[in-house]
Amino acid sequence: MTVDHELIRAAERVAAGCSRGDEHTVAAAARARDGRIVTAMNVHHFTGGPCAELAVIGAAAAQGAHRLDMIVAVGDGGRGVMSPCGRCRQVLLDYFPSILVIVDMGGVLRAEPVAELLPAAYIWSDHQA
Ligand SMILES: [Zn+2]
Repeated sequence: MTVDHELIRAAERVAAGCSRGDEHTVAAAARARDGRIVTAMNVHHFTGGPCAELAVIGAAAAQGAHRLDMIVAVGDGGRGVMSPCGRCRQVLLDYFPSILVIVDMGGVLRAEPVAELLPAAYIWSDHQA
């Protein structure tokens, strides 16, 4: 799928302008179904503070954006696009099964379906009472 470069630039701007020490080091940007871009930063903490991808899901919900089509995370200090961790892949799959995730595949940016990033996945909704 086509990589949303405006989305990457939005995450880059937040990562460059809002990072703070060890507390906020990664920005995420998500494209909502209605076209708007929502951004957020990670909350690093020893208790398991959320990654930027999870923070952006909450920020989007607070703005009434409950359908996200694409997401990207960017590290501060010019680290570029970062792939989501396993926890974020699982949450993204369960919340937005058709979301595309921008990842760096050996120097090439690609928008991959989240299901492709989590083969043989546990599907949360399949195991609810
Ligand atoms: Zn994560």
